[in-house]
Amino acid sequence: MAAQPTTQPIGVRRSVCLQGFTTWKVGGPAEWFAEPGSQAELIRLAAWATSAGLPWRCIGAGSNLLIADGGLAGLTLCNRRLQGSHSDSQDGWVEAEAGEPIPTLARKAAKAGLHGLEWAVGIPGTVGGAVVMNAGAQGGCTADWLHSVRLLDPSRPDQPFSLEARDLDFAYRHSRLQAEPLVVLSARFRLAAGHDPAEITARTSANLHSRTSTQPYQQPSCGSVFRNPEPRKAGQLIEALGLKGLSVGGAQVSALHANFIVNTGNAQASDIDALILLVQERVHREHGITLHTEVKRLGFEGLDVLRPGP
Ligand SMILES: Cc1cc2nc3c(=O)[nH]c(=O)nc-3n(C[C@H](O)[C@H](O)[C@H](O)COP(=O)(O)OP(=O)(O)OC[C@H]3O[C@@H](n4cnc5c(N)ncnc54)[C@H](O)[C@@H]3O)c2cc1C
Repeated sequence: MAAQPTTQPIGVRRSVCLQGFTTWKVGGPAEWFAEPGSQAELIRLAAWATSAGLPWRCIGAGSNLLIADGGLAGLTLCNRRLQGSHSDSQDGWVEAEAGEPIPTLARKAAKAGLHGLEWAVGIPGTVGGAVVMNAGAQGGCTADWLHSVRLLDPSRPDQPFSLEARDLDFAYRHSRLQAEPLVVLSARFRLAAGHDPAEITARTSANLHSRTSTQPYQQPSCGSVFRNPEPRKAGQLIEALGLKGLSVGGAQVSALHANFIVNTGNAQASDIDALILLVQERVHREHGITLHTEVKRLGFEGLDVLRPGP
């Protein structure tokens, strides 16, 4: 367990249940928790945690996270209050805070006649999470339109710096930020200007409709649990084994989309974790393919030995 700080800054709360901060609605308590409302506050809190010897991490909308029932040691900073963006409809530049919901950004861009983010409307994450995950859908992804990011290095919290998209090693659902402890403070996109706002808005809405009619948006989930083992689709491999509806406790392989695991109401993180492992074992046994998780597991340290990593 980390060292215990004697005093905590304003806004930092102790032992906060994280269920409400993930779209799966599971997870234990954060030892320390805060939702900074500005980049300056985030930097101040990160500096406090570092000087107190606490481990710390940032989360966005928690839409790609499985947080263990035992919770997370140290400080968890949730960026979802760090919202805001501005765009230039003439030249296509868009700058967004890390906590800006990516669907909100997609809607604003459409309204300004900016083409590029129509695919993002059904992804319930933040801009920061989208950059880290290289989130994408329906033929588009973050890397296609990102220009640069403003970052914070925990070892130098007072010296934010920028990196260009080409320096982030983007690949399918991958960026180097998944392996390096850097915090995304904001992101700068270059979209295509001069389009008809009505047309972009209609395309954006159509994308959302096609998602919500084929995926279980009404139940708590984290979207696709497994990365597609290209050229195969994880959902098809799972469905072919008749695993739709397979349950462990309150966790169930969705009947609508086999790459989704839904919380049917009272799931524990351990149920979801056990179901992930069960699906991985069955797919490996029957198809000879190892499915790697797209979802990030937090707080499972020491329990990862059997797990094929992302
Ligand atoms: C219904 C549903 C549908 C989905 N559909 C898609 C889809 O089509 N395509 C797709 O790619 N994803 C999809 N997802 C998954 C998820 O929405 C994306 O991965 C999203 O980009 C995660 O963003 P987030 O803000 O929720 O990040 P979180 O889940 O909070 O965090 C994800 C990772 O990023 C890190 N992180 C978050 N913010 C920061 C930051 N500011 N700085 C540094 N690290 C940070 C976290 O520590 C964690 O490692 C879906 C999820 C749901 C629930």
